[in-house]
Amino acid sequence: MVEATPFGLRLSALGRTIVKFSNGMKTWQCIRGCGACCYLDPSERPDLEEYLSPEELQQYFSMVGHDGWCVNYDRVGKTCRIYPDRPRFCRVEPESFGEMFGIEPEELNEFAIECCREHISDIYGDNSWEMVRFESAIANGDAHGSE
Ligand code: SF4
Ligand code: SF4
Repeated sequence: MVEATPFGLRLSALGRTIVKFSNGMKTWQCIRGCGACCYLDPSERPDLEEYLSPEELQQYFSMVGHDGWCVNYDRVGKTCRIYPDRPRFCRVEPESFGEMFGIEPEELNEFAIECCREHISDIYGDNSWEMVRFESAIANGDAHGSE
């Protein structure tokens, strides 16, 4: 996963969530059994210091496992073990994204969709089952629930 989005960051650990933002024909949502954004290798995200506070930066680094995945990520179940208490930078919410990235609420839907696509593409591939499910979910609103 990589810092390569046109938005300047990777959505570090969006997590599984039921939060949805409507905008146009597609509506962002997190799909169950993905976790592509929980790969936190800092080498893939060189601009962390631009949107994380010093405390958050320290927290972020403390979460990076030896394999680059978040230590809180259950790779078998593909779930976040601390979902209710996940950090601000793991939350796809208007307030947090406005604070960190200057994203206006009306821009969040498109921004989140593009970031998820990049994460999923990097981790699983453009033709992966995860990408197919994500595209289906945002196009059809077939929610997969959350953790
Ligand atoms: S805290 Fe949870 S949502 Fe955040 S990166 Fe880790 S596993 Fe993903
Ligand atoms: S990349 Fe997107 S769909 Fe996948 S777990 Fe993260 S927020 Fe959910």
